[in-house]
Amino acid sequence: MPPTSDPGFSPRRALENEQFLESINERLKASLLEVREEAGEDPDAHFRFFCECSDLTCRERMHVRPSRLTAIHEDPDKFLLIPGHEILEVERVVDQEEDYLIVRKIV
Ligand SMILES: [Zn+2]
Repeated sequence: MPPTSDPGFSPRRALENEQFLESINERLKASLLEVREEAGEDPDAHFRFFCECSDLTCRERMHVRPSRLTAIHEDPDKFLLIPGHEILEVERVVDQEEDYLIVRKIV
């Protein structure tokens, strides 16, 4: 069941949480790229980024290439999340990759 029966759920709060996690992932990515550059590692190897779903308590991670994260976040309505964490009342699944779904906000 989607958590719409939860009285604490609101589309606005869900969107705020997704935007919050998106900004955390972007900051993670920036430090990661610096560290990898210094270490001479592949900058685009998979990294465990946070799930950007609407659940305020979700801190699960999924493997994503930094360049994919950048490409998806270029569209402000798109977020990445772990399969099963999508809420169809507020978002649509537009694509699926190895470890995660790409969703587009519809509210
Ligand atoms: Zn999640």
